[in-house]
Amino acid sequence: MKKLLCVLLCAILLVASVPFAAAAEDEPAADALPVILIPGLCENALIRDKGEKSESQIWFPIKAVMRGLLRHTGELLADIIKQDVDALGELAVNFVYEVAEPIRLNPDGSSYYDVSPVVSTAEESSYNALKKSGKLALVTYGTSTLKAVADEIGGDKAFVFQYDWRMSPFGIAEDLHTFIQDVKALTGSEQVNISGTSFGSEILATYLYLYGEEGDLHRVLMNSPAYAGSRIFREMMAAEEPTHIDYEGALNNLLGNYGVELELGYLLKLLPEGAADRIVYEVVDRFIKTYYLPSVSFWGVCPHEDYEEMKALLLDPVENAEMIEEADRVQYEVVANIREILQGAKNYGTDVCIIMNEGCRLLTSHGSGDLLVDAANGTGGECLEIGEHFADDYAPERLVCADENHDHVSFAGSLDLTNGYLPENTWVFYGQMHGQNYWDANARPLTLKLLTTDEITDVHSDPAFPQFRENAMAVSDVLIEIKDRPSAVLSPADGSVTAVVRNLSHIYPQRIKSITLDGIPYTLDRDALLLMPGMTAEITLTPTGGEAKKYGSLTIEYDEVFNIKLHKSRTQYFEVVE
Ligand SMILES: [Zn+2]
Repeated sequence: MKKLLCVLLCAILLVASVPFAAAAEDEPAADALPVILIPGLCENALIRDKGEKSESQIWFPIKAVMRGLLRHTGELLADIIKQDVDALGELAVNFVYEVAEPIRLNPDGSSYYDVSPVVSTAEESSYNALKKSGKLALVTYGTSTLKAVADEIGGDKAFVFQYDWRMSPFGIAEDLHTFIQDVKALTGSEQVNISGTSFGSEILATYLYLYGEEGDLHRVLMNSPAYAGSRIFREMMAAEEPTHIDYEGALNNLLGNYGVELELGYLLKLLPEGAADRIVYEVVDRFIKTYYLPSVSFWGVCPHEDYEEMKALLLDPVENAEMIEEADRVQYEVVANIREILQGAKNYGTDVCIIMNEGCRLLTSHGSGDLLVDAANGTGGECLEIGEHFADDYAPERLVCADENHDHVSFAGSLDLTNGYLPENTWVFYGQMHGQNYWDANARPLTLKLLTTDEITDVHSDPAFPQFRENAMAVSDVLIEIKDRPSAVLSPADGSVTAVVRNLSHIYPQRIKSITLDGIPYTLDRDALLLMPGMTAEITLTPTGGEAKKYGSLTIEYDEVFNIKLHKSRTQYFEVVE
């Protein structure tokens, strides 16, 4: 009888498991850990007077911006026609006061108004909960990275942590601690994977410092990390006269966050010469230095070596005493110890990975990074200015990675990660803008794999995800990579290779007019082609036996059809080895 029951039971289980097994192909992995995403400064929505009749969204201030633009259009046009730089500066400052006034802080660092994030508990912050409450579009990454993670592991396991980004990373890390315990309870998981973008990485570093030994974090992904600050802080805040800013890059980055491919930088050419720089200078000098300066988080992105000097220059030891005490703690306990914090995480069983960028000039200077954070601070490595390259005989002193077989120098010969924070766990995308992983077709699969699987443990795990790679953002228009070999290394001894030319744009056809090689001893079988949006073409590169540069370059000249800014070019670097 028992045997019969057993057979029956087995048969039932077998039949019952068939549909599940079949469905498992499309179902999210049941054993995947929950994933939490943390946005950066200014990135998540804030509301005023939560729960009151007067409740209103104050950030992102879309309504206020639209209202302000409508109100001031006449004045703006008149000032442009008159080419009146002073009046434009005044207009901009008043506009910013109008729009951003609700985020003002008291001199002690506390909020002037009653402000909170749109959602705060773990229960209301999963992808599914946000979808149900209709708040998905309000949270950063709601419709991009969070959705992509939810597609991989299920919407009940994908979370976004929202916070008041003006406050101290210590207080925010405390809230994150509660949030993580709640995520564990909600999902029944012992650990979580977590990613912080920009300032979100500083919150994670603070978390590791305070709570790392509790072992809640399986994997931490630091994305475009701002935990060691950015030299932009000094370049903007200590400037005594207007600094020249890369507006085109800034606009592309801003629009890129919404996946928008529209170049509006040329509109600034309507303004009188130097007006845009003057406007930014006035806004920093009069708005940021009064209403936003006491933000402890803001002081967390000041590089440690600049901190005391900037503090003496910008803060008042009496009026700002309370926030200075907290900012000191952030600087001396976290920012000054980033290397130790990141490297020490493995002692608690936490795997830390970094995705950073190089090759985009900083907004305020020729430093190399992703517009906002310099590559040296993000990775702990050595990074040259834009356009500079290490000498051909450059050999790094091996202090962190001692393995002679490892080459941690980028193919552009401008960034050396050998002595970085985590040379084996840092990936770098050349030319990618700040926090654009999701919009970069080369970075997105890596990000998702790191967050939702254990398939990749370091930069040596999978040749499809090399340490250094060109970006493939839609706004970068065109890209040439060697077929089946994403690492930008060419070896003439291997003979001819096939390269894939991709039109990265989703809307513009690209007419490639020429491809010029400098120090790359190959010939191309064709260098003129028309590619429709999203299309690829193959070209053959054949070695010529000519002289190679160690860090050679390839420049594509192309017209972006139907775009006002028609003629463009992109330069890519290739390391040429024997
Ligand atoms: Zn190494």
